[in-house]
Amino acid sequence: MDRNGAEPLVELSGVGRVFEGEGEEQVRALDGISLRIHAGEFVCVTGPSGSGKSTLMHIIGCLDRATEGDCRIAGTDVETLDDDGLAVLRRQAFGFVFQSYNLLESLSAAANVELPATYAGLRAGQRHARAREILETLGLGDRPDHRPAELSGGEQQRVAIARALMNGARVILADEPTGAIDTEQGAEVLNLLEALAERGHAVVVVSHDRAVADRAHRVVELVDGRVVSDSGASLAESPGSAPDPQTPHRTTIPWLAAVRHGLVALRTSGLRGALTVFSVALGTWSVLALLGLSEGVRLDIADAMEEMGANRLSVSSMAFGKPGEPARLQPLTLADADAIAERVANVSSVQPGMWERLMVSRGGELIDPVIVRALSVNEPLTLQNAPWPLAEGTYLSEDDRDAVAQVAVIGPTIRDRLFSPDEAALGQHVDINGLPFVVRGVLAPHPRKIGEGEMMWSGPRAREWDGTVIHIPFETGANLVFGKENLNGLDVLLTDAERIDETAGDIKDLLFRHHGMDYDVTNDALIWISGKKLKAMHLALFGAIAGIALVLGGMTIVAVSLAGVSQRRREIGIRRAVGARRRDITAQFVVETGVATTFGGAIGALLSFGGSSLLAQITGAPVAFEPWFALVALGCAIATGLAFGIVPARRAAGLDPVSALATD
Ligand code: ADP
Ligand code: MG
Repeated sequence: MDRNGAEPLVELSGVGRVFEGEGEEQVRALDGISLRIHAGEFVCVTGPSGSGKSTLMHIIGCLDRATEGDCRIAGTDVETLDDDGLAVLRRQAFGFVFQSYNLLESLSAAANVELPATYAGLRAGQRHARAREILETLGLGDRPDHRPAELSGGEQQRVAIARALMNGARVILADEPTGAIDTEQGAEVLNLLEALAERGHAVVVVSHDRAVADRAHRVVELVDGRVVSDSGASLAESPGSAPDPQTPHRTTIPWLAAVRHGLVALRTSGLRGALTVFSVALGTWSVLALLGLSEGVRLDIADAMEEMGANRLSVSSMAFGKPGEPARLQPLTLADADAIAERVANVSSVQPGMWERLMVSRGGELIDPVIVRALSVNEPLTLQNAPWPLAEGTYLSEDDRDAVAQVAVIGPTIRDRLFSPDEAALGQHVDINGLPFVVRGVLAPHPRKIGEGEMMWSGPRAREWDGTVIHIPFETGANLVFGKENLNGLDVLLTDAERIDETAGDIKDLLFRHHGMDYDVTNDALIWISGKKLKAMHLALFGAIAGIALVLGGMTIVAVSLAGVSQRRREIGIRRAVGARRRDITAQFVVETGVATTFGGAIGALLSFGGSSLLAQITGAPVAFEPWFALVALGCAIATGLAFGIVPARRAAGLDPVSALATD
């Protein structure tokens, strides 16, 4: 309490501020300042340039801390407050007015006025109403939606005063408020400030302008950081009571406002925003392309493995010599089949194969030579080792084998050639090489069509795929059709597909010992897959590009937003001055990056919806695109944005408000 019976709003005793200069050098900007300011006072702090006026104002306004002495604001010792506590005190107790107005260019006049209430947590409806009301009383009722650039200097300064009043502002601190505007508008601003003091605000104006000192009720003069004269407290006859702080005490971060400001920032950031969005879009798109390509190839390979059997080796009697030499037939007999089955490890069964293109006819109907396969019945050749799917009838049986029966299972294409659709095929005869065979069953059409570039499938199994094949029991084929010893090949099923190379070697060794010749022992699926290796190399390239694009996107975000931080130092200072805590600034920047990356991610996802078929065409690689990829990629984009955005955000939050505001 002091002689007026009221507690001073500002109470400094022995306050000093020493700046650490380069090396040993120190600057004593303030030295032993003692000052009490009450509600209702209109004080002018004056003095020559460099005398410490601004420093004093920053310390009173809790933008800076004293290095010596005590500083109490509305009874609270600021020494006891942490950084957040100071921010809360700023937004509750102070309103700042600067020489250069310090309005946010991207926001309307009303939105600028609302800013302190946003951080204080006032609800939007109340905020809008209060901002308009204050603008109205300051004679700006008709300009709430104007941008600062559309207003005159005096009008901008009145908007700044309105912003200062938004949260109640028991103390209004103005640093050279008339310095940048003409005399007439300056006088208007002074009238306003005087009226506010009469209404019970403590008004502290820093100025070396004579006119300001003349209007003030009390003049404090500084020289070299010391008070050299103080005209003394001069309260109005009946000081109005200082208005109560109007602000709720908010502790959460105003996310909604951060997103809204983020959208505004993105819209007004021009190249900076475009770069961020573009780089994230590119990164997202390449990630999606990679996902699509690798999924496509994975499905392709998985299909091949499943359909061709990764656990199957083919031994061929057809030997290909050096280039230029004709291919020749090598003996391959049932004894070889038995030897492999008995003596090679990891072999679960061996199926001898015989096939030849033979004339097939029915009645007078002769069709082109078709592949006739003789198959061992005990383990019918199947894909995936499951029974061969039939469209009609039954498959070759053990009884057929034992009886060396002249029975056949025909492919669907052959059925179409020899029988009309409504004619029964089962039980009918067809002639193979002049011998009559009874049709026992009809194979189902193969679900998978042969793709282009899969010419290796011109062998017998490809005929199964296109339906022009006839299966007959192996014994029948060996005894009646092909001759006993001339096997075309052996199909070897393995127990363990992992050891396929080792087993292939063992089979080669064994055949070499028997015949003194080298045989081809191959796995169809593996041959097919090795053809895919070239594509895989393409994919690796794409993967690298995608990775680079994503990292580049992330680095662009860092670079662009760091540049943004230094461009926006003043904005950060303003936000801090009106009461934003460090975490509010961090949130603001992270949200802005989040907004930009969400846009980028969405654009990238859209691009890949349209672009995946194009990609498939360009690369010739299979591209699978699942809708959930887009969600994953969007998530990745946002996560990348936030992860990389945190660095600039922390940099922004770490800025000291005074030096941020000092930026020109
Ligand atoms: P005024 O506003 O009266 O012109 P200031 O308060 O800006 O004076 O500065 C007072 C003294 O403190 C000056 O000598 C100035 O150079 C010094 N000063 C102000 N800010 C800093 C700082 N951040 N680092 C070092 N010296 C500073
Ligand atoms: Mg100054």
